[in-house]
Amino acid sequence: MRLLLSKRKIFSKIFLLFFIVAFIGWLLDLLFPALLATSLVLLGWNYRHIFILDKWLWRDKKLTPPAGDGSWQQVFDGIYYRQRKARKKNKELRALIRRFRDGAEALPDAIVVLNHDWTIIWCNKLAQQLVGLRWPQDERQRIDNLIRNPEFQTYIQQKQFDQPLELSSPVNEDLVLEYRMLQYGEDQHLLIVRDITQLKLLEQVRKDFVANVSHELRTPLTVLQGYLEVMDADNLPQAGIWQKAHTVMLEQTKRMDALVQQLLTLSRIEAAAKVQFEEHIDVPAMLAMLEQESHTLNRDKQHQIQFTVDPALVVSGIREELRSAFSNLITNAIKYTPNGGEIQVSWVRQHQKAVFSVTDNGEGIAPQHVKRLTERFYRVDQARARATGGTGLGLAIVKHVLQRHNSKLMIFSEPKKGSSFSFSLPAESVPKSKAAKIS
Ligand code: ADP
Repeated sequence: MRLLLSKRKIFSKIFLLFFIVAFIGWLLDLLFPALLATSLVLLGWNYRHIFILDKWLWRDKKLTPPAGDGSWQQVFDGIYYRQRKARKKNKELRALIRRFRDGAEALPDAIVVLNHDWTIIWCNKLAQQLVGLRWPQDERQRIDNLIRNPEFQTYIQQKQFDQPLELSSPVNEDLVLEYRMLQYGEDQHLLIVRDITQLKLLEQVRKDFVANVSHELRTPLTVLQGYLEVMDADNLPQAGIWQKAHTVMLEQTKRMDALVQQLLTLSRIEAAAKVQFEEHIDVPAMLAMLEQESHTLNRDKQHQIQFTVDPALVVSGIREELRSAFSNLITNAIKYTPNGGEIQVSWVRQHQKAVFSVTDNGEGIAPQHVKRLTERFYRVDQARARATGGTGLGLAIVKHVLQRHNSKLMIFSEPKKGSSFSFSLPAESVPKSKAAKIS
């Protein structure tokens, strides 16, 4: 409980003391020396407490107040009370800051807290990873000295923060970052940086996809339409033209059919939620069928196609999707290998995994194309691919099928030497079995 010092009480105490001393001094005929001595004692007493107070405040590390006499004890207690209150406030504030920082660390975005002069007050770990800031070394550094990009500097100078700014990361050129500046308080700023690489990529792929679908569908449709108009004409053309028209219409219809089929397959794979895997897919039997089918395709090409199949290697998965992946890879090897080439198809067990590979000694693919091959409609040579009847969707389908089977398409290729497309299904998809014979 706080007790206030009472002026009246103090003065009456001093008055009483001096009165008694004066009285005794008067009796002993030592009035002035007695008053002087009392004043000095009082002064000494006060100085002693000032020293105690000074020692406690500046030298002692103790929080508890020193013992004092009379009203000084109350002064010490008052200071102690204030100190305790300040410490408690401090603790609360520190806990609040810690909570704020923990919260900011948990955010999926990079956060930089900035002062009115654009100097950094604090940044989270993601800001260090995405923007390359160093903490605590970059504390009090100007953000535009660290993100040395003219566009960013203009963004800050113009203070038009209603639109975010898109820039590549100073740490990794391949990352696209979205910078968003928020103003709060008195000219304080919060910089939020988000990695939108994936979003950008998806957006681009989606745009390309829609554009390509319409483009690809338009060509065969226009051809069909053109010939249908001829058919509608009053004057019947000669039989020869009819034959040609019929052939072209048939070709284009087939092509359109293939395209639509693959588009449907692709969107089906993409749209479908997790499908239940079928337990025992007889891949050797499936490959035997595909081997038969490949003969038809190979009739004009005259390749030597060799199938190496582990007859016991069955897997779990989605039958139709796996068939489509095998078929696309085999068909591509046949299509893109010049006549009389060599193609090896293999389905074998390796370290508990099931590995499928198609290797050809065909035209090969230049490195800059390899990583884009699985994009929809991506073709190394547009004209040639169309001539071979390709839709540009085969490898995109393979990629999606493999994603759903926890696998990845590996492509090794060297121009003019050949290519190898392979993937391995994980051990979980391969039932354990006795040592297998290879046919
Ligand atoms: P397409 O229907 O055009 O064959 P894909 O998605 O199956 O579409 O293949 C994309 C492109 O990859 C092809 O256009 C071709 O340029 C290239 N490609 C695929 N497989 C091979 C291969 N075995 N050898 C060389 N190039 C290939």
